[in-house]
Amino acid sequence: MSHGAGGTIMQDLIVRIILKNLGGSNAEVPLEALDDSAVIDNIVLKSDSHTVKPLFFPGGDIGRLAIAGTVNDIAVMGAVPIALTSGFIIEEGFPLSDFEKIVKSMGQTCSEAGVYIITGDTKVMERGAIEKLVVNTSGIGKRNKYLDKNIAEVKRYRSFKSRWLLDSNLRKGDKIIISGTIGDHGVALLSFREGYDFGSKIVSDVAPLNKLITDLLNVGGIVAMKDPTRGGLANTLNEWSDKSKVGITVYEDQIPIREGVVAACEMLGIDPLEVGNEGKIVIAVVSQKAEEILSALKKTEEGKNAAIIGETTDSFREVVIETEVGGKRILAPPIGDPIPRIC
Ligand code: MG
Repeated sequence: MSHGAGGTIMQDLIVRIILKNLGGSNAEVPLEALDDSAVIDNIVLKSDSHTVKPLFFPGGDIGRLAIAGTVNDIAVMGAVPIALTSGFIIEEGFPLSDFEKIVKSMGQTCSEAGVYIITGDTKVMERGAIEKLVVNTSGIGKRNKYLDKNIAEVKRYRSFKSRWLLDSNLRKGDKIIISGTIGDHGVALLSFREGYDFGSKIVSDVAPLNKLITDLLNVGGIVAMKDPTRGGLANTLNEWSDKSKVGITVYEDQIPIREGVVAACEMLGIDPLEVGNEGKIVIAVVSQKAEEILSALKKTEEGKNAAIIGETTDSFREVVIETEVGGKRILAPPIGDPIPRIC
């Protein structure tokens, strides 16, 4: 299971087997970049498979998750999704009424995001070959009309060579913003699946964020964006630090987390920083624009709990978390996934 958990073990599998055999394209953002999406001939391309358990959970279902996941991976590159595909693999005997509910939810999430599924595939496998339903969604996107304006704003303050918002774009002095509370999706799924009661109901944050992202690009100054899904905030920050060759300092007391999520994670011995989110974005922005981006976020429903949580430095190369009591520790990339089967 760790080979699919989004941590260092999966990373190793990807490098040793997948990149070794499938790399080598001349795409502008190739497979080897391991970014949220690829870019070729100005087309942004992404593919995602979803194996969530259970299929219906507080705040969403596998259908909403599939659409939001692909839309967000395209949007965080600085693109707008223009069309999606869907591939269904259905277990023999799966109730058609449940299948219809899921497809309906996909349709609703597509209209929320302003995008259509325009091609797809349906397969049925014999009972026991898979568990209920697997959904693959792929998507293409084109350059956001505000991306050049956003980059021009970055260039008022520092040099910037990339044409897209990549994991490798961070430089010393950038600020790190999170668009809202972390851990909601993973903890909502785990509590529901295992029947835990943590006193307050936690609901998944799963949502398409492409419209919010367009508004933020219009403000400008963003150098990178990422949806902290599998591996959570810890994985996102480590990928940025590694690919951009910068250190990142994060202030623990600035990270927004719901009380119920803190309680659940303490009880289960899970680090909320490693828990997957499906409706959040982490934003790296030139420091001069951080407050403006933050206030644009706070004006929206999805971004009302946004916060500036850290900054980049060239005095070290790791991700360092400053704790509430003033201590410092290295925030390592997650090895596996504290909560499997959530996306
Ligand atoms: Mg992503």
